[in-house]
Amino acid sequence: MATFKDFRNNVKPNWCPGCGDFSVQAAIQRAAANVGVVPEELAVISGIGCSGRISGYINSYGFHGIHGRSLPIAQGVKMANRDLTVIASGGDGDGFAIGMGHTIHAIRRNIDVTYIVMDNQIYGLTKGQTSPRSEMGFKTKSTPGGSIESALGVMELAIASGGSFIAQSFSSDLKELTSLIEQGIQHKGFSLINVFSPCVTFNKINTYDWFKENLVSLSDIEGYNPHDRLQAMNTLMENNGLVTGLIYQNKEKPSYESLVQGFKEEPLSAQDLQLEEEQFDKL
Ligand code: SF4
Ligand code: MG
Repeated sequence: MATFKDFRNNVKPNWCPGCGDFSVQAAIQRAAANVGVVPEELAVISGIGCSGRISGYINSYGFHGIHGRSLPIAQGVKMANRDLTVIASGGDGDGFAIGMGHTIHAIRRNIDVTYIVMDNQIYGLTKGQTSPRSEMGFKTKSTPGGSIESALGVMELAIASGGSFIAQSFSSDLKELTSLIEQGIQHKGFSLINVFSPCVTFNKINTYDWFKENLVSLSDIEGYNPHDRLQAMNTLMENNGLVTGLIYQNKEKPSYESLVQGFKEEPLSAQDLQLEEEQFDKL
């Protein structure tokens, strides 16, 4: 049985000191160990951005894809070898701007992949521009007069798109975040976990203190039922999306791969494929 230390490698992260992404890395390593996965059974696929570097910092299979394309790669990896636990990760710019089309379709498709977004409401790698998660009025180099666009409500969008596991957390809460990643890995379908992960260098508005003041834990809402889709949507709208915990889960929705006709239970390596050369030409 592996421990979280087995998921460490000797690559030193070059994130700024205090960046929220350190905790997300630790939470992934702890969650993988806690659910009984070993490094050879884990694949971490990332996109571009500061947070996209995470696939290089975890001892597992890894693939650092291009901007906004972690999900097509992650879904392909899962379809090719569903024995692997597949985690896709990246930032809000990566997943909710250029990659948004993939995000929405992965949510509705429901392939058994855990998608962890490090949401800092800004583009950090390119030195601080407004992202689709920045609030209206947010001032950066790209919006010096304040953003005139409203922020994308990704959790609401995920519910409306047929998401089967939708959660949100804060990088300061390692215990909750680890637990949600464990639940996401164990969920048979697509899991979206949005993590507020402060960019201490460029985002001086959405700081650790700001999140502590503004986030509402679902565990403090009496009678909250994460299997009630309407309540989940109402609660998000009432709190401007600033809630943490398991927002919604539908265990009944079948995963994509379970519905693919002819999909073999055993991995490809164990199957007697016996493909003739001419068959390869048709693949
Ligand atoms: Fe983290 Fe921001 Fe530094 Fe990037 S620029 S490593 S997001 S603190
Ligand atoms: Mg970002």
